[in-house]
Amino acid sequence: MTAPRAAVTTSRSHLPLRPLWLCRACGAPWPCAPAKLALVREYAGSHVTLCLYLSSLLQDAATDLHLLDPHGAPGPGQLYDRFIGWAAHPRPTTG
Ligand SMILES: [Zn+2]
Repeated sequence: MTAPRAAVTTSRSHLPLRPLWLCRACGAPWPCAPAKLALVREYAGSHVTLCLYLSSLLQDAATDLHLLDPHGAPGPGQLYDRFIGWAAHPRPTTG
């Protein structure tokens, strides 16, 4: 009996590769969808703490990405949407 492959790959592996801020597991701009799910689970009941954590990461990412490519780095609005926007306005739970 073998475990399904999806069960072996945990969301913990979806961590940021700094200073590029790409996901180590899937290569998407971090936080990728699995990383967001993991963060929501990890900070369940601590929404403010999650937003504070994400804002500190946003500052780190803004610095790193600007140093890597001063002219091509994402702007403040893009970084806000990417790091905080998705978590700042949680959808009401259904069911
Ligand atoms: Zn990922």
